[in-house]
Amino acid sequence: MKAIKSIRGMHDILPESIHVWQHLEATLREVVEAYGYHEVRMPIVESTELFKRSIGDVTDIVEKEMYTFDDRNGDSLSLRPEGTASCVRAGIQHGLLHNQVQRLWYLGPMFRHERPQKGRYRQFHQVGVEVFGLPGPDVDAEMLAMTARLWRMLGLSNVRLELNTLGTPESRQRYRDHLIAYFEQHRDALDEEAQRRLYDNPMRILDSKHPDTREVVAQAPSLMDDLDAESRAHFDGLCAHLDALGITYEHNPRLVRGLDYYTHTVFEWITEDLGAQGTVCAGGRYDGLVEQLGGRGTPAIGMAMGLERLVALLEAREDAPAAPGPDAYLIVGGDELVGPALQLADQLRGELPGLRLVQHCGGGSFKSQMKRADRLGAHYALVLGSDEHAAGTVTVKPLRSQGGEQVAVDRAALADHLRTALQERS
Ligand code: ATP
Ligand code: MG
Repeated sequence: MKAIKSIRGMHDILPESIHVWQHLEATLREVVEAYGYHEVRMPIVESTELFKRSIGDVTDIVEKEMYTFDDRNGDSLSLRPEGTASCVRAGIQHGLLHNQVQRLWYLGPMFRHERPQKGRYRQFHQVGVEVFGLPGPDVDAEMLAMTARLWRMLGLSNVRLELNTLGTPESRQRYRDHLIAYFEQHRDALDEEAQRRLYDNPMRILDSKHPDTREVVAQAPSLMDDLDAESRAHFDGLCAHLDALGITYEHNPRLVRGLDYYTHTVFEWITEDLGAQGTVCAGGRYDGLVEQLGGRGTPAIGMAMGLERLVALLEAREDAPAAPGPDAYLIVGGDELVGPALQLADQLRGELPGLRLVQHCGGGSFKSQMKRADRLGAHYALVLGSDEHAAGTVTVKPLRSQGGEQVAVDRAALADHLRTALQERS
């Protein structure tokens, strides 16, 4: 029979790479907790309306990337393409946002029907952080400092920050009008996609990859010229905080981000080490979104990181975290010793919490069992043969260098012996 395969663009994460994911997730958790964030978990499926109302009808995500279907009641549902909309929905629904400060984070799979390629998948994973109730720019700077700390903790030095401001909705509207007027003058030089977007979403034309369009974009008016005093003060304040923190950034006035809900601060952390899909983290302020989704006006800022891209960066490092082998592998010297071996292993795990002990199962020669222990990368082989069993001992055989000599250890002293041996090794 023909085997069934996974869906294109949706991948299994196998044991051989899981430790990199776990290392990344543990580091992320440590960092966000150091800044007072609390974890939230939202459903993977939401009503389609939520994403239309937040991300925006004429964005790439809503126009062509969502997994949308009718459930058995005929309601239109979508697999979440990102987490901010769900997080805001949850915050409003449970009364977490009004007149409160919340620092929230989440981790989980997101779904977008994009063309699969390196760094771009149909099911991918994001860690998102969202802060509610603080107008900034202090918290904007704090969020970027937290991200910079994460890169340091992960040992990722080749990630740079691009920053921009979209101002208030009013200044953005003014800019939009100026942009449309400008692009109208150069309409013939724009590619088809840009022409189509001219009136719905002209700011998106700014990050077009089309060469002809890029030439037009290069001369386009800058949003900085339409900024009001408040927006400028917010941006200048953020830049001053970043300077004080020693965080380097580049102001990219063409950075607009693809979602409709952003106001003021927007940013991307970009690496050159991944080829075309180099944005590993992106976000910004969205002061209007809570109200737009039916809550009371609440300032907010958030960002999301693509975990697949970070895993790729970590795996490319020479000192990439390696999968740890077990501390010990228990070798069973005969069928009649299976019962005593099961008991021994069970007792040892009780005596040494955290001990990673693999018992050999399935029989086989001493030699084949030793081979298995070695292949797993175990640090010690524990041999329970008939001699050992009769004498009430276990032979402890170091399998890695600097492990010392093989010794017979009294059963009663085994836990202490292993504890000391493993401590010395680490
Ligand atoms: P891009 O410009 O790469 O399409 P985006 O603006 O659509 O990104 P966001 O919605 O801001 O991305 O998502 C934040 C981060 O999530 C991205 O910077 C990226 O690291 C990751 N990401 C987004 N889409 C995908 C995907 N299809 N596969 C893997 N990672 C993704
Ligand atoms: Mg995208």
